[in-house]
Amino acid sequence: MKALRFYAPEDVRVEDVPEPDCGPDEIKLKVKNCSTCGTDVKIFYNGHQNLSPPRTIGHEIAGEVVEVGSDVNATYGGDWQVGDRAQVIAAVPCGDCYECKKGWMAVCQNQTSVGYQYDGGFAEYMIVPKQVLKVDGLNRIPDNVGYDEASAAEPFACAINAQELLGIEPGDTVVVFGAGPIGCMHIRIARGVHQAGPVYLVDVNAERLKMSADAVHPDETINGAEVDVVERVMELTGGRGADVIITATAANITQEQAISMAARNGRISFFGGLPKTDPFIKCDSNLVHYRQLHIHGANGSAPEHNKRALEYISTGQVPVKDLITEHIPLDRVLDAFTIVKNGEAIKVTVEP
Ligand SMILES: [Zn+2]
Ligand SMILES: [Zn+2]
Repeated sequence: MKALRFYAPEDVRVEDVPEPDCGPDEIKLKVKNCSTCGTDVKIFYNGHQNLSPPRTIGHEIAGEVVEVGSDVNATYGGDWQVGDRAQVIAAVPCGDCYECKKGWMAVCQNQTSVGYQYDGGFAEYMIVPKQVLKVDGLNRIPDNVGYDEASAAEPFACAINAQELLGIEPGDTVVVFGAGPIGCMHIRIARGVHQAGPVYLVDVNAERLKMSADAVHPDETINGAEVDVVERVMELTGGRGADVIITATAANITQEQAISMAARNGRISFFGGLPKTDPFIKCDSNLVHYRQLHIHGANGSAPEHNKRALEYISTGQVPVKDLITEHIPLDRVLDAFTIVKNGEAIKVTVEP
């Protein structure tokens, strides 16, 4: 079968590999969709400390069950059958550590990841490892949800995890930095799930800002390359600032701007990680102190957030279909990375 194998930074090859065998405590999927995100591009250029090469990458996965290991249903209490439609979690918690037992699976100390320690979804077939099955990380796709939409449940789950910590109340003013697919999802979740009030979308790429705005219709777009973002948000909020700010980008300055534009009791999500080589920001601690700001991190998602993402897609509360703007065959997967890198599409999905 064909698979995208990572060997080293910038040495990533589509090649023929043996079709994987399904062990007694594993499930084999025929991958139908594996979507791409900025992380894939980062891996392409930099690799990742937890990624052991050669490795099939790809972590936003939906597929059809083609084999169920003989012990799976008895061991994990499921009822998986050949032909079932399934979505796979990407961040795999251990289920046993202090954090997992507290129900904080997104910050499991022993977290592993599909496409890092286990072969991922840019392949015709993949094995769902027992570590995923153990934490109920293989999810049934509702009948009215397509495989392409289901593959977007993983990034969607990360956004759900982040917003859950923000306590967004009906009518809250929300600013989202980053007009990528995840920024679009944040806007839809803030409105569709939390009934946010005015939502403003910020980016420095005018084309991407327009493309995403055409899809999710923020109340206003702000081009950070052209205007002072903090000043503009202050104007738009009558000088009060934004109640909630989500930085879905790796640009350090957006985190600083987020603190400067936060309203009293404002809540901030540092959703996107910063470059490893420069992870520091300047923070006016007195703003945090006097305005009672809440600054939250966000680290992937828990299995339960993936289930909820599938449910929101199924009920129509948070649509994702129209955000998937490119469908690309597996042998052109490297083109998909280029499209993601250049921000030329909202969401790109690969179809093995
Ligand atoms: Zn991703
Ligand atoms: Zn754990």
